[in-house]
Amino acid sequence: MAGRPPQDRGPASRRALTDRTVGFALVVAGLLLLGWLAVVLVPWHPVPGGEPRPVPASDAFTAAEIDRAEAWARLGRLLSWSSLAISLAVASWLGFTSRGARLLGRLALPWWSAVVVLVVVVIGIGRLATLPVSLMAWQQRTRVGLTDQPLAGLLRDVAVGFAYEVAVSAVALLAVIGVARVLPRAWPAVVALVGSVLVVGASYLWPVLVEPAYNSFEPLRDPALEQGIQQLAAREGVEIDGVLVADASRRTTTLNAYVSGFGDSRRVVLYDTLLTELDRREVLAVVGHELAHARHGDVETGTVLGVGGTVVGVGLLALLLGTPAVRRRAGVAGIADPRAVALLLALGAWATLLVGPLENGVSRQLETRADVDALKATGDPVAFVSMQRALAVTSLADPTPPSLSQWWFGSHPTVLERIALGRQAGWRG
Ligand SMILES: [Zn+2]
Repeated sequence: MAGRPPQDRGPASRRALTDRTVGFALVVAGLLLLGWLAVVLVPWHPVPGGEPRPVPASDAFTAAEIDRAEAWARLGRLLSWSSLAISLAVASWLGFTSRGARLLGRLALPWWSAVVVLVVVVIGIGRLATLPVSLMAWQQRTRVGLTDQPLAGLLRDVAVGFAYEVAVSAVALLAVIGVARVLPRAWPAVVALVGSVLVVGASYLWPVLVEPAYNSFEPLRDPALEQGIQQLAAREGVEIDGVLVADASRRTTTLNAYVSGFGDSRRVVLYDTLLTELDRREVLAVVGHELAHARHGDVETGTVLGVGGTVVGVGLLALLLGTPAVRRRAGVAGIADPRAVALLLALGAWATLLVGPLENGVSRQLETRADVDALKATGDPVAFVSMQRALAVTSLADPTPPSLSQWWFGSHPTVLERIALGRQAGWRG
């Protein structure tokens, strides 16, 4: 912005130097943490004897199934990449120019309400811009039978998602900007610490706060299955409290399950879709996989990854905002300026995209280990393979996604890799 008084430059550059030093130290510390994660926590070779080659698609699926999945996958990728491109473009347009900073206009608000207003407006613009794609995606998902959710349900999910994103972003940005206002030099260290605490808190609170916003739960009314699950849990050395069923079928036909809670309040949660689409042995194969995540503390591993990423991210943020050209371009005085909201949200959106390969690369290793453990614990590779097949057919998963897409966005091994694993289960003791 033109007309910034030149006398700002003295104190700003002295402060910038300190900001940047703290930022640099954080980047180093975060990279050390991520290095430890990579060396100690991530199972790089989860399959005894090495990972098998994926089976050919025609071995596992009929030609019609392959055509149907590929047709949907192409469309689905087009829609989700369009949505991603639109939201990044909007975020960059608002954040990397002074437009976002000018959204407040002449409103003279206390800094914290300016932050909240900007969070609502910037995220709201992004949601509105992607709404047509969300509607198109819903229409296409309905057409191919991936959902029978009514439009009202979709709009409710969009509203819940918006409220959630606003709440999380507002809390995070109030913390960042608030701390920077009080501690103009040490803020990166404090923000990294607070951010890490929030990451840890979020991974514990996610099943408690977020899942109930979308689903309601009931106890499982199938004593034989419940007993099978308890036995599987005992075999995998995981203590569980009970088994719940979530009414996910209101929203999706996707099959899923997870273990929530920690210590002695752990529960297995099954999507109701799982019980209608799979037989008992296949459900046990799914649960065996989820129990393996619980046994190895994969949520905790993900949390360490999140903390490492947060520390590096805050460090980079300090380095970036310590650069006068960046501040000038975004039309903000610094991190303590509430008008930095759009810039921070844009940086957050790009960071989320750029960490994809790292996050998903780690995730695929954890998922493969959970598959191996499920196969060992159930001793039922036949049910494992038919479950993978059923999962892929109901979700119209692309058996052969483009390798860049799988590398960047694939949180799980491909279905053909997983089926190959099940067929190779001879290594089972
Ligand atoms: Zn998993």
